[in-house]
Amino acid sequence: MVTKGELVPSIDVQWQRVCGLLRAEVGEAAYRSWLKPITLEGESGGTITMSVPTRFMRDWVVAHYVDRLRTLWGGENPAVRGVDVVIQPQRAPAEPVPLFRRPCAAQERPYIGMQDVPPQRGFDVNDIGAPLDPRFTFDQFVVGKPNEFAYAAARRVAEAKRVPFNPLFLYGGVGLGKTHLMHAIAWHIREREPRRTVIYLSAEKFMYRFIRALREQNTVDFKEQFRSADVLLIDDVQFISGKESTQEEFFHTFNTLVDQGRQIVLSADKSPSDLDGIQERLKSRLNCGLVADIHATTYELRLGILQAKAERLETDIPRKVMEFLAHKISSNVRELEGALNRVVAHAQLVGRDITLETSQEVLHDLIRANDRRVTIDDIQKQVASHFNVRVADMHSARRARSVARPRQVAMYLAKQLTSRSLPEIGRKFGGRDHTTVMHAVRKIDELREIDPAFAEDVELLRRMLEG
Ligand code: ADP
Ligand code: MG
Repeated sequence: MVTKGELVPSIDVQWQRVCGLLRAEVGEAAYRSWLKPITLEGESGGTITMSVPTRFMRDWVVAHYVDRLRTLWGGENPAVRGVDVVIQPQRAPAEPVPLFRRPCAAQERPYIGMQDVPPQRGFDVNDIGAPLDPRFTFDQFVVGKPNEFAYAAARRVAEAKRVPFNPLFLYGGVGLGKTHLMHAIAWHIREREPRRTVIYLSAEKFMYRFIRALREQNTVDFKEQFRSADVLLIDDVQFISGKESTQEEFFHTFNTLVDQGRQIVLSADKSPSDLDGIQERLKSRLNCGLVADIHATTYELRLGILQAKAERLETDIPRKVMEFLAHKISSNVRELEGALNRVVAHAQLVGRDITLETSQEVLHDLIRANDRRVTIDDIQKQVASHFNVRVADMHSARRARSVARPRQVAMYLAKQLTSRSLPEIGRKFGGRDHTTVMHAVRKIDELREIDPAFAEDVELLRRMLEG
């Protein structure tokens, strides 16, 4: 066990240097996500102990950075022989504040709003917040590689008894689940600890409230309302870019709440550093907590989301249809859900089962929009280079296996990745008949079933084309 009293005086400086070196090595984004949240706990018997907020982060840091950490520590202090990464204990209020905390704002503070006496408020907080969507809960959020870190961070905030990091800043493209996670945090806390005041609203709404308060000359009430929050969640912060007086007010609200150990959760479409039109001092405060990004969805995550939604809709959706949707609608989850809903609604309306053909028909326009990126020419080029054949062989009449198989793969991918019809695809492959294309698609499907290595090859090609 590490005893804080055993720390050599310069260990803090050594840690700063290790951080600096690693930051230069891994780049700003990885540093912010994984390394900045590390807290130095101390050194004992040649082992440095560092802690991180969640198990997930611990596993990640151990898997990706522990060797570098050990080497860099060794470079700074030859007495260091090993490093240990542990999960931060939930510290009880009576425990002394750890010696080394990262330099930014308040960490692990107990929540102020959890006193035994229910807070007496002269107003209804539902007035200032926005309603929560009942579907946006943690159990309805499907976790995959692109969002696992943001999810872990959100859960940690929702479950923590003390502020683990402030603010939690979630960012990512449109329709990737930022609002969903924020609502999930709010639901979770409201359910478990109804006494805590949770306020969720968009930055836009925050601004309009503020403007109205200015107009009605009751900014005191405005301030008091927001400052009563134990947990304040503000969505789409990019909205206040360039809006100076709103930023000013936001900055003060933010600081007051952080200083009082209340939790703040923010979302935006960009990382704090990349937000344009936001004052530097605000940006640096936003960067102080945990910044977690949600990446674009992968095929696996899209399929997982579709399965979860289909189960909830209690509708039988053939696997093929789900695969088709997951392949075709890759832009964002909102569109994916929309597509699924359309397919289901159509089937119910016409009173028929859902099939691949009807799905293709129903989603024709949507798929065209999602398709524009991949063309049959792209596919032919990529496949030819992958199998080391000439692009001309995609059109030629040669039937040798060495060229026929790659050609079939290209036809298959053309069917999967574009919305071209079988005859259209046939024409693009040296004027072949649509039955040839159909045969190719079947053949490749069969081979994928029986030969995992081949299936992986095809999947790799698909990813490269979509990527
Ligand atoms: P954002 O706020 O990032 O633009 P939303 O949170 O509004 O995106 O998500 C758009 C839609 O996609 C919502 O209906 C949400 O429930 C759904 N969604 C996004 N990500 C997931 C996920 N991982 N699991 C389940 N549903 C998701
Ligand atoms: Mg949103």
